[in-house]
Amino acid sequence: MAKRQFKAESKRLLDLMVNSIYTHKEIFLREIISNASDACDKLCYRGLTDDQVGMSREDFRIELSVDPEARTITVSDNGIGMNKEDLENNLGVIASSGSFQFKQELGEGAADTDVIGQFGVGFYSAFMVSDRITVVTRKFGEDAAYRWQSSGADGYTINECEKEGHGTDIIMHIKPDAEEEQYSEFLDSYRLQGLVKKYSDYIRFPIRMEVSKS
Ligand code: ADP
Ligand code: MG
Repeated sequence: MAKRQFKAESKRLLDLMVNSIYTHKEIFLREIISNASDACDKLCYRGLTDDQVGMSREDFRIELSVDPEARTITVSDNGIGMNKEDLENNLGVIASSGSFQFKQELGEGAADTDVIGQFGVGFYSAFMVSDRITVVTRKFGEDAAYRWQSSGADGYTINECEKEGHGTDIIMHIKPDAEEEQYSEFLDSYRLQGLVKKYSDYIRFPIRMEVSKS
């Protein structure tokens, strides 16, 4: 499909986050893991009233994998997943996410990026460390899977693809290192484990980590 454009306010927020100071960038992992957890919660909740789900709380998990060679970090969940419409509505419009509240708190023209660490800034925060994000997802109970892809402010594409089982893979293509910002640090599995401990200790689903050796 042709490239779609983000809403104007999404572009401004993306700019702000991409230019945020380095120490705040690490919170992207918290945001992506909390979305994975929310997706598991949603399907788990649905399972209470829908026999088709056939899963209980202990069947859900979040998987983290790092490929230093390919410079990717992938966060996978076996939660509810998204169909095409969900992708359009949830990842194409920043106003529908927690990021919107963050933008409002910040106020017009405010330059204090200190608040970034404190707010739920949402999915888009992954663009602080990624030059491209690929989302591969399949909604529970549906056959079609979709690949959403974006390099940030220039829009996104959605294409049909293959995926075994329901749930979502968020594949973050980590930026090359710059003089002041060593993004490669995030590809270090110990560093990532530390971030999971620091920010995602409260998550009630198991978080497993897999490291591809190059
Ligand atoms: P928030 O979590 O505050 O709603 P985000 O920007 O973090 O805002 O995420 C936006 C939306 O994208 C979520 O509300 C959800 O609908 C969808 N989403 C993001 N990640 C996932 C995921 N792993 N599985 C299913 N839906 C997701
Ligand atoms: Mg979120």
